[in-house]
Amino acid sequence: MTSSDIVVIGAGLAGLTAARAIRAAGRSVTVLEARDRVAGRNLGHHLVNGVPVEMGGQWIGPTQTEVLKLITEFGLETFPTYDAGSAVTLYDGTPTTYSDETFGLSEEAAVEVGRLQGELEALAGTVSLSSPWLSPQAAELDRKTVDEWLRTKTDNAEALAFWAAVVPALFSAEPAEMSLLHFLFYIRSGGMIGSLVATTGGAQELRVVGGTHQISERLAETLGDAVRLSSPVRKISHGGDGVRVHFDGGEISAQRVIVAIPPTLAGRLTYEPALPAARDGLTQQIPMGSVIKVQVAYPTPFWREAGLSGFSFNLDDALSVTLDNSPPDASCGVVVGFFEGAHARYAARMSPEERRASAVAALVKLFGPDARQPIDYAEQNWMEEEYTRGCYGGRLGAGVWTQYGAALAEPVGRIHWAGAETSDVWNGYMDGAVRSGHRAAAEVLAHLEA
Ligand SMILES: Cc1cc2nc3c(=O)[nH]c(=O)nc-3n(C[C@H](O)[C@H](O)[C@H](O)COP(=O)(O)OP(=O)(O)OC[C@H]3O[C@@H](n4cnc5c(N)ncnc54)[C@H](O)[C@@H]3O)c2cc1C
Repeated sequence: MTSSDIVVIGAGLAGLTAARAIRAAGRSVTVLEARDRVAGRNLGHHLVNGVPVEMGGQWIGPTQTEVLKLITEFGLETFPTYDAGSAVTLYDGTPTTYSDETFGLSEEAAVEVGRLQGELEALAGTVSLSSPWLSPQAAELDRKTVDEWLRTKTDNAEALAFWAAVVPALFSAEPAEMSLLHFLFYIRSGGMIGSLVATTGGAQELRVVGGTHQISERLAETLGDAVRLSSPVRKISHGGDGVRVHFDGGEISAQRVIVAIPPTLAGRLTYEPALPAARDGLTQQIPMGSVIKVQVAYPTPFWREAGLSGFSFNLDDALSVTLDNSPPDASCGVVVGFFEGAHARYAARMSPEERRASAVAALVKLFGPDARQPIDYAEQNWMEEEYTRGCYGGRLGAGVWTQYGAALAEPVGRIHWAGAETSDVWNGYMDGAVRSGHRAAAEVLAHLEA
């Protein structure tokens, strides 16, 4: 049996960041990764014409400073997401273009949406990022779902339809599937709703030339053969003198272990002895969201000629959000779209051909008949991924933060937790994953024996 000072489970951004910090402190580290590649929820793909696109996380915003530092350090280049022209909202069969704050809604619905956004952001301002369960109105906010809150606040059907598209766009989960406290925590963690939804100035501002998976690849290069691929971890034995990590292919002992995988997957490992009930109860209740991401390619970004940005909210169809995802030289046109939440579960039951037809039909409604003949279509169903089991990340339903939240990042003996879900800043995003890696590395380094 081999040994390291620290074992890290998972070679996504969180695990690799942690491992690099441990190595930089002069300690030995081994990263065990289940897949035959690094980068986890970041995944590159080439369209039929060779243009790179991402099937997982792709955008970076200006306040996501930790992931931006890595991009700069590794000499990767960024480019702005195309954002000129009008957006489109499709509601009740009518596409409306807009370039103001109305989201293309009727005046009455736009006022309602703005009012509710203001109320949500005011409430979010009261939520503690480090300990949401200790927020002043935590019990009250955690008792109801986002859906319940919205329905007590408005009966405007169009405004409700809008939120029913926006909430899954942020969480790939339905408003009824998460607590209001979790929603408020999350929007505060990313700088409020405007910051989360915006392209320029917000979370969708920048893309990485060649794809975000390269950040993890560069991190892994700095770690060399400390990263062991195709090594799914099954069991962690832990006690007063150390840990023993059992994976397909062997065992490794260490002083401490960082588990840098989504909480629900962490709950599927075997622990010997078993984890405290509070931690196990937590991981039983952080399901991953549901998303199928699609890339639809055309000879040109034809929508730009019509003055459209490619951004859309579709309140009618299953493909509910799109953005222009064309390469920086616009050598072809690419629309990225998402089936999210209930729509993703519905679309997952279709055949690939039906799903493609459904996506293309939605794009025709939004951008016109030129959308009918794509030159390529690619899709990624993250729910089917054995070592992710859904995206964008894990969410907490009603009552979970206040009953179990303290166990999210708190170490259990020699077991530490990292991953985008454990970050208090940009929770659920690449930046949050990197921050969680730094935090977990600092925790283990503070405890290491000589
Ligand atoms: C479709 C999609 C779109 C997204 N869009 C964005 C975006 O635009 N911007 C943004 O910032 N974020 C986005 N995200 C979220 C972002 O990708 C994630 O928050 C981030 O990559 C998570 O990193 P992580 O290291 O915490 O987890 P992961 O990337 O999930 O890494 C965990 C690693 O652990 C491995 N693993 C799992 N189980 C085991 C096991 N038993 N043994 C060993 N290894 C194991 C996995 O294979 C994986 O490599 C998106 C995600 C998806 C899927």
